[in-house]
Amino acid sequence: MEKRDELYRGKAKTVYFTDDSDKLILHFRNDTSAFDGEKIEQLDRKGEVNNKFNHFIMTKLEEAGVATQVESLISDTESLVKKLDMIPVECVVRNLAAGSLVRRLGVEEGQELSPPVFEFFLKNDALHDPMINDYHIASFGWASEAQIAKMKSITFEVNNVLKALFAEGGMLLVDYKLEFGVDSDGNIVLGDEFTPDGCRLWDKETRKKMDKDRFRQGLGSVVETYIEVAERIGLSL
Ligand code: ADP
Ligand code: UDP
Repeated sequence: MEKRDELYRGKAKTVYFTDDSDKLILHFRNDTSAFDGEKIEQLDRKGEVNNKFNHFIMTKLEEAGVATQVESLISDTESLVKKLDMIPVECVVRNLAAGSLVRRLGVEEGQELSPPVFEFFLKNDALHDPMINDYHIASFGWASEAQIAKMKSITFEVNNVLKALFAEGGMLLVDYKLEFGVDSDGNIVLGDEFTPDGCRLWDKETRKKMDKDRFRQGLGSVVETYIEVAERIGLSL
């Protein structure tokens, strides 16, 4: 497999074509950004940690029957993945109240959400990723009604698998964001990444924040804590 031209450079990853038209390389960089790219820093080893973390989680999800982009780890900071036609929406599930939900509704951080809350956001930095609903997605043609239903059901399936995985490591999966795309056969497939950059994880006992909120809130030890999360779920880095 050969790396070809750059397809896209995002805030944290660079995507490359390969000699296989159905496969891409995701290169996880050390760049860490928050607040729509307003705060950006390079964190030592973050690319490597997130690349291996993402591969580990996507493999666990595949084993549990979720269709993901996963192909193989090809270097410390790069993974080979299925090329998807990405749907420009973010699927968020929340088990506990945090982040924008707390700011938007004035509810207490840490409040348990039963049933869990599902939200869609439009992936658009210039508009600050506004919240949208099923009707916006269908009306503007970002995805069909069947694809919307599939994204929701897979996102909840992921919740069952990962809540249990993190619970075994003494952590609470507070919330997370997933992105989906369509593969060459027309199937909805989980793409992008699942890392502590795109979810919230708290220690079950102390409620210590173990995710990107450490960076957003300037709490320090960002990558060290991501490594601790990995180790608690059986991935040694
Ligand atoms: P952002 O675009 O939000 O700054 P990244 O730096 O993570 O984010 O860039 C990665 C880009 O690659 C995103 O736009 C994402 O939608 C896209 N992407 C992720 N996985 C795949 C895939 N399997 N196939 C095609 N594109 C993908
Ligand atoms: N999230 C993400 N990318 C985004 C927006 C949110 O990965 O562009 C994740 C975020 O890390 C959290 C969840 O989605 O785990 C819910 O985020 P929220 O809406 O609370 O926004 P935030 O306050 O984190 O910006």
